[in-house]
Amino acid sequence: MVLNFSSNFNKWMRDLLHVLYPQNCLICKNEFNQSKLAICPICSSELAYTHFEDYNEVTNLDKLFWGRVKLEGTYALLRFKQQSSTQHILHELKYKNNPEIGKHFGKEIGLKMKIIDKFSDMDALIPVPLHPKKEFIRGYNQAEIICKGIAESSGVALRKDLLKRISFTESQTRKGKSSRWDNMQNRFKLQGIKNRNLKHLVVVDDVVTTGSTLETCIRILREEFPQAKISVAVLAVAE
Ligand SMILES: [Zn+2]
Repeated sequence: MVLNFSSNFNKWMRDLLHVLYPQNCLICKNEFNQSKLAICPICSSELAYTHFEDYNEVTNLDKLFWGRVKLEGTYALLRFKQQSSTQHILHELKYKNNPEIGKHFGKEIGLKMKIIDKFSDMDALIPVPLHPKKEFIRGYNQAEIICKGIAESSGVALRKDLLKRISFTESQTRKGKSSRWDNMQNRFKLQGIKNRNLKHLVVVDDVVTTGSTLETCIRILREEFPQAKISVAVLAVAE
């Protein structure tokens, strides 16, 4: 009887809260009635998880960096395909002023990485920097938002002070720098390194396709942290 009253009361409270604060799915924006969830059951069922945390084999994301930069590990939460829910999530994050969606999936990434042995000693989350002008227009750097989510659920420090993107035109006008790599490298610089004792850096971005931006960041970090482990974590990997 008491139990019944209590569960009825909880249901009544939930319904009341729903009327007062309707819960909208972070992906489809439709209202739904489970106040503890951020994603509605329909969108949840459509998420294309990689399940990288469940197996030890080499992944396509690992292979993408083979022969380019040495990495301790890579992690991607979702698979990216055109017209998929992942594409919709990335679109929301980048163009629809929906940072909450990045934070939400960042938290999921942090929880998944925590159960993978090779990430157990990570001590710095480094977002791929966005050009300051772009960040000003967008209002945030989506990689940093994902980092915040990862930091929240994993307890690892967010270090956005380590990498900074400099003006693209500035690098374009430099003389004697003609190769693509030189151009890419000149788009980033390190700044404000206060702790050279970092052991395991994780570079974080929203999506990886060719991997060239991440490669640039990793090469620059490698020069400054020759002994550190470096890993990559992304919200989505292109198939
Ligand atoms: Zn939904």
